[in-house]
Amino acid sequence: MSSGPVHVELLPGPPADWQPGPGEPRLPRPTEPRLAPRSAYVVQRFVKPNWLNRRVGALVERLPLARRAFTVAERKSKEDLFGCRMCGQCALPVTGYSCPMGCPKELRNGPCGGVGPGGACEVYPDRRCVWVVGYERAASRGHADDLRRLQRPVDHRRFGESSWLNYWAGRDDHLWTDNDGLASPPVMGDHQ
Ligand code: SF4
Repeated sequence: MSSGPVHVELLPGPPADWQPGPGEPRLPRPTEPRLAPRSAYVVQRFVKPNWLNRRVGALVERLPLARRAFTVAERKSKEDLFGCRMCGQCALPVTGYSCPMGCPKELRNGPCGGVGPGGACEVYPDRRCVWVVGYERAASRGHADDLRRLQRPVDHRRFGESSWLNYWAGRDDHLWTDNDGLASPPVMGDHQ
């Protein structure tokens, strides 16, 4: 058997105008966040679960109408800024504020093997991989180590819920590994 170099031909991705067939679900599309990394990490200081946010969250949860209005407001703002799909278990604080649910494969623990040499998504080659974008954003603010944490699988029963309410109520604690000796501490829940 020959031991010479192996040449692998890279297949082109689907055409940019590719669409799912009839009856097939539409795949999520990677979205470039519209909030600069610096601003996102500053905002995080205000939405973390402090006593005020916990109290507000508990009050809102007591009133079904307020809860619905709050969830709609969260959906609207995060859809515009991050392409949020309301998974209810927000990973943004440790992904450089690039939403992993915009990945067509919904990968929560880094990119697949199909990222193009320039960082293009394999499924939508006209868009950049959410994890490449997340790395660049996190690294630009000294948070690159956050991306080494292991995220637990998303619980699909919680789609549509407010992740902020879940966050403040502590239902999002342990969303990713902690106490792992990385340089930067976790930035969520009681661990902050
Ligand atoms: S709540 Fe889920 S879908 Fe929305 S931004 Fe956070 S990780 Fe993405």
